[in-house]
Amino acid sequence: MSGDSADAPSIHPCLTCGACCASFRVDFAVYEMEDMGGRVPAGLAVEVNGSTCRMRGTDHVPIRCAALTGTVGVKAACGIYEWRPSPCREFEAGSHACGIARARHGMAPLPDGVY
Ligand code: SF4
Ligand code: SF4
Repeated sequence: MSGDSADAPSIHPCLTCGACCASFRVDFAVYEMEDMGGRVPAGLAVEVNGSTCRMRGTDHVPIRCAALTGTVGVKAACGIYEWRPSPCREFEAGSHACGIARARHGMAPLPDGVY
């Protein structure tokens, strides 16, 4: 028995979504920028003030983080997944905010469960 199941592909729902990356302003401490000792690549965020940076594109209309690749609701990924800032690390799939983001892009909330 291999344990493989041909009829139950386990694609994480975020990989066909990306709505949160195209719905909210993403602000974080300047110390998360790579040139300040953090890991967020320079060029993908702008400094808002002396203590805060913001992912490019997240305060534009329509909102779309500059690091987001793919098409929202079809196939999406974070281009800097390993180096994304803390708000993105803390954002929970299946949360209330997740449901708001998905609704903004015409998608139903995720069903209950752990993601
Ligand atoms: S809105 Fe929810 S399901 Fe969509 S990418 Fe963000 S966390 Fe994942
Ligand atoms: S950095 Fe990545 S996870 Fe965060 S908003 Fe941008 S695309 Fe989404």
